[in-house]
Amino acid sequence: SAAGIAQQQSELAALGVRFVFAQFTDIHGAAKGKLIPLAQLADIVHPGAGFSGPSIWGTGLPRTGARSEYYGRADLGTLHAMPWLPGHARVVLDGHVAGAPFELCPRQMLRRQVERLAARGWTLNAGLEPEFFLLQKGACGIEAEPGDRLEKPSYDSKSLLRRRGFLEKLAASLDACGLQVFQIDHEDAGGQFEVNYRYADALKAADNFMLFKMAAHHIAEEEGLIFSMMPKPFADRPGSGLHFHLSLDDAEGRPVFASVGDDARGLGLSPTAYHFMAGLLCHAPALAALCAPTVNSYKRLMCGASLSGTSWAPAFIGYGDNNRTSVARVVCRRIEWRLPDSAANPYLALAAVIAAGLDGVERGLDPGAPLNHDLYDMTDAERAARGLALLPQNLGAALDALCRDGVLAAALGQTFVDEYAKLKNAEWIEYGQQVSAWETARYLERF
Ligand code: GLU
Ligand code: MG
Ligand code: MG
Repeated sequence: SAAGIAQQQSELAALGVRFVFAQFTDIHGAAKGKLIPLAQLADIVHPGAGFSGPSIWGTGLPRTGARSEYYGRADLGTLHAMPWLPGHARVVLDGHVAGAPFELCPRQMLRRQVERLAARGWTLNAGLEPEFFLLQKGACGIEAEPGDRLEKPSYDSKSLLRRRGFLEKLAASLDACGLQVFQIDHEDAGGQFEVNYRYADALKAADNFMLFKMAAHHIAEEEGLIFSMMPKPFADRPGSGLHFHLSLDDAEGRPVFASVGDDARGLGLSPTAYHFMAGLLCHAPALAALCAPTVNSYKRLMCGASLSGTSWAPAFIGYGDNNRTSVARVVCRRIEWRLPDSAANPYLALAAVIAAGLDGVERGLDPGAPLNHDLYDMTDAERAARGLALLPQNLGAALDALCRDGVLAAALGQTFVDEYAKLKNAEWIEYGQQVSAWETARYLERF
């Protein structure tokens, strides 16, 4: 209402806010938007901030006519000051085209899947765990930090405390926006960190992740650092994941994934949790196209990469009790879905995850027995005997799986799948046409 908008304007003005960054997320998961003077807030609620549709990746909108204009309408529930950018607030936009919710807007797509859960009285809790590199321009080009050749850098105190300026400013900023940071550590590669903040419902979790990314990029730039969530920036170091911790609440707030009686499989999960899990595993190859959406993502996930040392990236489509070597780990009656990386658009990845899980529930799928041992240690023959499949080993294979997955196409829309596959196949083909430094080094003088 007009009175509600005026109220929010005066509250923000009292905090010194003069501009609102009206933000949406493109198909690649990049934050886009416009700066709006605070006084103009009502306009971006209705009719919305106007953007040229065909200038936005992945909309498939025409260059002319009524459907060429993309309107981002502010969701006022997301309006919040950004303390790391004094004088500025952020609001999240929902895509509209020709007066109706835009079917290819990632946030609208996630909302549709959230509504399917709500029809059963369910809410998805999603905790996204961002891993990232902090880098700098040094004598040898882009490098991490002095200690970056440690053999087991996990939890390294020197590296962590050296970067406390960035990390603590980021944590304070996120906290001020209600994200509730609870842990910060140095991860498995020199210069790699993880920041954990509280889970939220799916839509809010995606909004929060975009806020995290925007804050991190800005604060890093101020500190003279390069912040990167590229899935696998260095061939010889572990990559960065964006694990999703997933659980469902019912209408009374009770945990749907927790077993009421005995669980014969010993994980304390309910039948619904196993069906949901089976849906994830059944659709894993297609989910890869949305959860691990770049050429580079597969260098994190590749079987070889996972098996060499402690990279902890999943390679196999299985699940187990506290098992970091499979794509799904069960921990405290939650499913940790380890496939995603931060190149994913969080709205699309979560929408696809819900669609896959619901398919498992609707068809009553069974994920089989949990694999509680180290899958990296199994021989190919042992894996074959257990029917343990590998995740797609490259983007092309993942896109093929997505295009064959009728369930995801029905849930996400065939128009979306076609548009996504077109865009991403072009990326895959262009990559294939490159001649890399590795190739010239290995072949130029050999042949
Ligand atoms: N960096 C690993 C990945 O790419 C995960 C490490 C961990 O389990 O925290 O998924
Ligand atoms: Mg981690
Ligand atoms: Mg994790």
